[in-house]
Amino acid sequence: MRTVAVTRIGSLRDPDESTRGRIGVVDFPDQELGPEDVRIRVAYSAICGSDPHLAEGFFGTDVPIGLGHELSGVVEALGERATRNGLSIGDRVAGNFLRFCGTCRPCQEGKQQFCENIQEYNRPGMAETVTWHESQVYRLPDDVSLLQGAILEPTSVAVRIADKTNIKVGDRVAICGGGPIGQLALQVLKMHGATSLTLIEPIAERREMALRHGAEHVIDPVGENQLERADQITGGRGFDVVVDASGSTRAVTGLLDLAAKGATVVYGAMYPHDFAMPLNLTDYLYTKELTLTGVFVSPYAFPRALQVLPHLDVSELTEAVFDIEDAVEAFAVHVSGAHPKVVIRCNRIDEEVRR
Ligand SMILES: [Zn+2]
Ligand SMILES: [Zn+2]
Repeated sequence: MRTVAVTRIGSLRDPDESTRGRIGVVDFPDQELGPEDVRIRVAYSAICGSDPHLAEGFFGTDVPIGLGHELSGVVEALGERATRNGLSIGDRVAGNFLRFCGTCRPCQEGKQQFCENIQEYNRPGMAETVTWHESQVYRLPDDVSLLQGAILEPTSVAVRIADKTNIKVGDRVAICGGGPIGQLALQVLKMHGATSLTLIEPIAERREMALRHGAEHVIDPVGENQLERADQITGGRGFDVVVDASGSTRAVTGLLDLAAKGATVVYGAMYPHDFAMPLNLTDYLYTKELTLTGVFVSPYAFPRALQVLPHLDVSELTEAVFDIEDAVEAFAVHVSGAHPKVVIRCNRIDEEVRR
């Protein structure tokens, strides 16, 4: 089964071709269909901002490392006991690449994100098919296309970020980073009644995209003094909610100065694992009483992500589509930043449906 994979560890941005990380299309063995499993013929699988971190060896260095966790497709086969979700062959679906086992201590304590068996079903989905446990699979509503369905997983992250902000209607909100998670969080927090909604982002196209989808203000952190702009926007009080969706080591410290007293700051991105965040916690935690938190994965968020997805505009996140044969080019485009999101078409299912 053809699967997009990291075939050499290294930075995908390395200018030296001889040491640069490499992506390839590799033949992986088919995954076994267990009695409670669902085999999905993958339609679309989106490249995630975390995929280049995998190429750098963040989660291990044994290549090939299969990629793909933001996907949609149609049900191709069902295990004999995969009947509890009412799924049928041919259903259009998307879902959670992680399975929460429900049996371990963290699952039983209602902390599924710390499930001790979380990797059991984490299988590469930038492939012709992927086999998941039934509990990971969600049927797409009729008004969500397969292409939009590939955005369900990042939408679940935006929903979880919103959960962790504890936002109240009318709170002033700033989001740092105009990539897919930042753009989706912006739309989701807008639904929550965010005001003075501000996106901080150095790339002009991404600032303009945010303005098209509900941002009231944008800040260029390179060309402008972001603290002065934040003071202007909030009347010197700061933002009640600050979200980092950039993963930028340069951005993260300055963000705390944008926060109002008593604000919540959510670090909703992935950072290099050797990065020590330089924070003066005495000031931020004692005198400002900030709540600092993060997001690892998104338990309990998928049913609600499915509810909000038809109300989000994800058209600009699904414009760049490459066939699986062209995965190397697709990753080059992703790394170039020319599109906020790049999607791989793993099978031409949309065309088959039309026929
Ligand atoms: Zn992702
Ligand atoms: Zn568990």
